[in-house]
Amino acid sequence: MKHILVLIAMATLALHAVAQPKKKKVVFIIADGIPADVLEKAHVSFPEQIGRRDGYKRAFVGGERGGYSQTPTISAVGYNSLLTGVWVNKHNVWDNDIKEPNYHYPTIFRLLKKADSTKKIAVFSTWLDNRTRLVGESLPQTGNIKVDYHADGLELDTVNYPHDKQSQYIHAIDEKVTEEAEKCIREQGPDLTWLYLEYTDDMGHKYGDSPEQKEAVKYTDKQIGKIWSALQYRQQQFREDWMIVVTTDHGRDSITGKGHGGQSERERTTWIATNAKDLNHYWRDYTPAIVDIMPTIARFMDINIPRENQLETDGVPLIGKVSVALPVVRLDNNKLDIRWKSFDKDGSVKIWLARTNDFKTGGKDDYKLLAEVPAGQQSAAFGIGSYPSAFYKVVLEGTYNTVNRWIMVK
Ligand SMILES: [Zn+2]
Repeated sequence: MKHILVLIAMATLALHAVAQPKKKKVVFIIADGIPADVLEKAHVSFPEQIGRRDGYKRAFVGGERGGYSQTPTISAVGYNSLLTGVWVNKHNVWDNDIKEPNYHYPTIFRLLKKADSTKKIAVFSTWLDNRTRLVGESLPQTGNIKVDYHADGLELDTVNYPHDKQSQYIHAIDEKVTEEAEKCIREQGPDLTWLYLEYTDDMGHKYGDSPEQKEAVKYTDKQIGKIWSALQYRQQQFREDWMIVVTTDHGRDSITGKGHGGQSERERTTWIATNAKDLNHYWRDYTPAIVDIMPTIARFMDINIPRENQLETDGVPLIGKVSVALPVVRLDNNKLDIRWKSFDKDGSVKIWLARTNDFKTGGKDDYKLLAEVPAGQQSAAFGIGSYPSAFYKVVLEGTYNTVNRWIMVK
């Protein structure tokens, strides 16, 4: 009898396990201004710890160098590329002043809340603007999004964090927001959490490539370690599956290591460390970009990105199946020449063309289907002489993802 009861209990447990899938939760961390070479020489443990063997890669920021999507390698610009999955030509945050973000390109936080308003979001940040202006809490333009948990704005508290020339107060704030993030993750387990750490960039600006910068990177390593152990705790205690993505917003110049903002290789070269399980060939065989993180989070959390937003997304998911990536589009003598990399040899790709950019102002673009071709073809050409315009948007829509390019006729 006892055995039967145990068996029944086990069967019930098994059924329960099948019926209740693990809740998918994500935390992403931006550690400011750490060039890939600096990180790789710093002998820190998180890339290995989080990334195991295949979850660490060099990545890039800055959009297409010299192209229409070229994006300054500046902090807030990079954060917003991560949040929105698009480059600066769309999100319109050109520097740290954040003058006029184009909120028509929603952040991952808004996409999550729109898909399921019961999901909880959290921001822990050494810079207040990340929540109030990039995520845009309580702004009518963001649908008055509410951030459920936060700790930030401490850089404005000069009583508890008096500003010193050595920026020790920034280190202290990084420690505090990490502690708050860790506590919140352990106790509340928000669905989507952003932790932003600044001290590494301050040391870079002050000292360039230096022992001080290296020490700052070591602090970051410890802070990331605390978040990592909070995730382990959640996964042991709850039916939850956590993905973590750690990255930086830009590299630094190669002369002194103090500056950034330009398009040099070192300023554009960043890195991504993640524990994501289903990393794909696009991740493995190419260099991922900061804009790829948004669609990766969306895919992991099963967030439905509305089609009109998918048509605008510049990033490609780093996990799961992908149809197309790396589109190249040229217009020569009214002939549109389109190339792409295919990751889905059996599927097909719909090629769409629009002459408007009304999405930018909240409108809808009128797409014309040029053709549906086998994805494995990896190229197509069309005469568009009867379709004149000074501006074109080309969208390649595959089964698993969509990529796009603009053409500005000079
Ligand atoms: Zn930065």
